[in-house]
Amino acid sequence: MSTCIPLYDLARGHAAVAEELASVFQRVLRSGRFVLGPELETFEVELGRYLGVRHVVGVNSGSDAIAVGLLASGIGPGDEVITTPFTFFATAEAVLRTGARPVFVDIEPETFCLDPDGCVRGVTERTRAILLVHVFGHCGLLDRFLEICDRHRLRLFEDAAQAIGSSWCGRKLGSLGCTSTFSFYPTKNLGALGDAGAIATDDPELASACRALRNHGRNGQGKHLHSGFNSKLDEIQAAFLRVKLAGLDAENERRRVLASRYDHDLAGLVRPIHGADGCCPNYHQYAIATPQRDRLANHLSKHGIETGSYYRTPLHLHPAFGPGRPALPVAEQASQEVLTLPVRPSLTDAEQARIVGLIKDCLGYQGSKVQGS
Ligand SMILES: *Cc1c(COP(=O)(O)O)cnc(C)c1O
Repeated sequence: MSTCIPLYDLARGHAAVAEELASVFQRVLRSGRFVLGPELETFEVELGRYLGVRHVVGVNSGSDAIAVGLLASGIGPGDEVITTPFTFFATAEAVLRTGARPVFVDIEPETFCLDPDGCVRGVTERTRAILLVHVFGHCGLLDRFLEICDRHRLRLFEDAAQAIGSSWCGRKLGSLGCTSTFSFYPTKNLGALGDAGAIATDDPELASACRALRNHGRNGQGKHLHSGFNSKLDEIQAAFLRVKLAGLDAENERRRVLASRYDHDLAGLVRPIHGADGCCPNYHQYAIATPQRDRLANHLSKHGIETGSYYRTPLHLHPAFGPGRPALPVAEQASQEVLTLPVRPSLTDAEQARIVGLIKDCLGYQGSKVQGS
């Protein structure tokens, strides 16, 4: 009798804009322009205005966006880039693609974001940059990172793939890095109907370097300056994204309402993961930590509730990054304890109440109540 509650429900999530998306499809079809046309140009302007940055460059994925941003900034072989082990593989893979070496530093237990003091200890004479990841839509104390980068002459990059619409002290995440990058993979808060991504920057030279890199190293005069990629954001996806950008704030607001209800109803049972002071997250994921993660996930799964465990293996333990495995105990513990609960905007109040009830059934009468410290 119990119905399933999936973590994502992309069909239900698009029901309200289905007609608008269909009419946009007709508009692009009639235009005959499918690559590097007016839809993308307009989306780039609209997203720049939304973020409060001067330049946005659309590319075909969040993964390419990171690599293109790093390459445009001159990161390459011999360089070290400090980043987090608690992220999707694509973050550090992008560093490898430039020829530079990712250096993993531990995270903070409260936010699951990079620990600034660890970053300082990780700096060597080869370090060129810190690549932040706003995991689950949260951020750490960004003024600390700006100050560290200033002091050590490092560039700051933001992987804001999960953080569109989040802000820190009134500024949008993805507006502070020398380049900041977004993913519009369908499950992200601003999802295309396929792969897409973008780079944001205030620097006009970096923006034109990114424009060249996404199109085979070709500049505005048709000259190929160097090799690049074929990584463009299609007109049809840009047109869909324009429709969805208009609804993004309302969707993120719904996520915040759901998140604060989880905070309230689960207080004392599990430890919620939150950004640092000043962070207003978009709740790409609502994440909790509990030593009873697997038992809880199994209990929910038995009742048809889908959960996520991002990330079960921190990046420094993947073979792709070689044999030198630093001990990063906070990230390793996080990967054992993290559980993400459905928080998509289409989740109904009744569905959320059912999830909360099942969590209370599983954890509520165990004697030991408060998890973590
Ligand atoms: C989704 C994601 C990416 C990759 O984006 P794609 O568009 O799937 O290539 C990179 N970093 C993080 C943190 C992500 O969540």
